[in-house]
Parts: sequence; C-alpha cells; structure tokens
Amino acid sequence: MTILIKQSTIETFREVLKKKQRDFKVIVNISGGKDSTFLLDLCLRYLGPKNIDAIVYIEVPGNTHQLNVELVHKIIDYYNNFFDVKEKFVHIKKPGCYCHEHREIEDFWTYMQRHAEIPYCHKARWCMYKMKFNYLGEFIEEMKWPKRKIVTIAGIKLSDSKFRKSRYQEYVGKLMPGAIQSHEWVPYGYFAIPILEYTTSEIWSYLKIVVPELYNELKRVYDEYGDTLNCIFCPFKDKSTIQKHARHDDIRRFLLEKLSKIEPKKEQSRKVKERWMKILKAPNLEIPI
Ligand code: SF4
Repeated sequence: MTILIKQSTIETFREVLKKKQRDFKVIVNISGGKDSTFLLDLCLRYLGPKNIDAIVYIEVPGNTHQLNVELVHKIIDYYNNFFDVKEKFVHIKKPGCYCHEHREIEDFWTYMQRHAEIPYCHKARWCMYKMKFNYLGEFIEEMKWPKRKIVTIAGIKLSDSKFRKSRYQEYVGKLMPGAIQSHEWVPYGYFAIPILEYTTSEIWSYLKIVVPELYNELKRVYDEYGDTLNCIFCPFKDKSTIQKHARHDDIRRFLLEKLSKIEPKKEQSRKVKERWMKILKAPNLEIPI
C-alpha cells in the first residue's frame, strides 16, 4: 500500500520552513493520541528535527491519567532512537492555576467544583486556555522567545467536528495567524495544522505501516480505554469512549466521585454532567474489555 502524504501537508511545512528561516521558533504539540503521534512523525520526517525547537506535552492538572504520561514517554523514546528528540522534548506538569478569588492553586477538578463550570462548548473551554495555553505561554516566556515569532504545530483534523471543519477549512495548506480570543488554540505567532485533511482511518493505516510498534501500543490503549486519556474527563467525548472509560472501575469511580461534587450553574454544564453520570452509571459495564 502506498502512503500518500497530502499536498496540503507539504504546503503547510513549506510555510513553516519560510518562518523558520526568519528565526521563528517551531513548537510541535503532542498529547499521546494517534493524531499527535502521526503529526510528530510527519514533522520529524518531512520538516526535519533541526527545524523543530520544542516538542511540547502538557498535562492538564488532575485530569491527565498516568497511562497517558507513560505513553507519551514511550513515543518520545521510540523517536529518540531515530531522530535524537529527547533534548527537544518538554513535559509541562503544573499543580494547577492560581485563583485570585480563593487565593490558592486550583487543579482541573477543584476549579470546576468551586466555580461550578463544566466546559460545554468551544468558547467555554476554560480548561484549554487556563491549563494549556497559559502553560505554553509560560514556557515560551521562560525560553525568552518573542511570542510573535512562534509557529505552533498541532494535530487537528477537519473531520474532528463541525466546528473544526468550519473554523479551519480556510487554513488547509496555510498558516493561521495567532488568535487573540482565548478560546482559540494558540494566541501567539502562527498556527500550523498540517493534518487537517486526514481521516482517522488514514492515520491508523499510516501508523500501522510506518511505525507498527507505536501502532500496536496505541491501538491497544484505544481499544481498552477509548482514547489515551490526556484528559480523563472532556465534555466532547462520545458515548462509546465514555463507556470504555467506565469499564475500568478505578476510572469510573474517580469520575463519578469528582462529577458528583459539582453543582453546575449553567444549563449547558448541567446537561454535560447528567450525560456523563448517566453513561457512567449505565448497567452495560459488564462487557468484557
Ligand atoms: S481535551 Fe477537553 S477537557 Fe481537556 S483541555 Fe481540551 S477541552 Fe478541556
């Protein structure tokens, strides 16, 4: 089987290289999932490690499973054998965000509980900008890299959701200028999205052929858990993924305990909570893994 790399990937990488030649810093975001592993693979092979300044992995405080952390380190170890990526790898792990109202650091669950806000749509994804963008920003500041001279590469696909299809269609093969709004992925420099046009099955096929060891590991985790648990809870997960989480007693208990402590104020947040609680408590949990 021939593996075709889409023209839009090549065009996006050309644009990234043009920025790199103008002293931009290039950051590849990974999460341990199949999409970001595919993204990292393409970046290493087609952009080249010398054109990548950092490979950044961010834990969401209190909501990232240890399994995800271990998986990311396996992926980095694997690529380190071929591309010497360890020195570029940045693992960001913070205890949470400082809350001026409560004068304390709050992790994902404490924040939700105290502020009664379960994220429910793209614009309400406080977790994304509080616990991912902020940390990425802090890293860029620590490195003393000018924020306007950053290209952040991420593994988003048009087929992920209707929102993504309408939001990112115009950036196929192009760079997206950094966004000001907090619900956008990256508020700095430029955003490169080289895998927009791939389908899930194309990504699995690529991984199976090109990196079978990683494919086997990722497939096992997806079959068993539904995804790789960079966020254990996420309002955007579908029913079958939540059901797979629920088959693991430790994860089911953890989620039920955490969610039961939250009393959402907004109608949309309440619906997200009810949906999760209903699936987690459903009696179909005897299905063998
Ligand atoms: S994956 Fe979901 S829960 Fe995690 S940061 Fe993004 S929107 Fe929030």
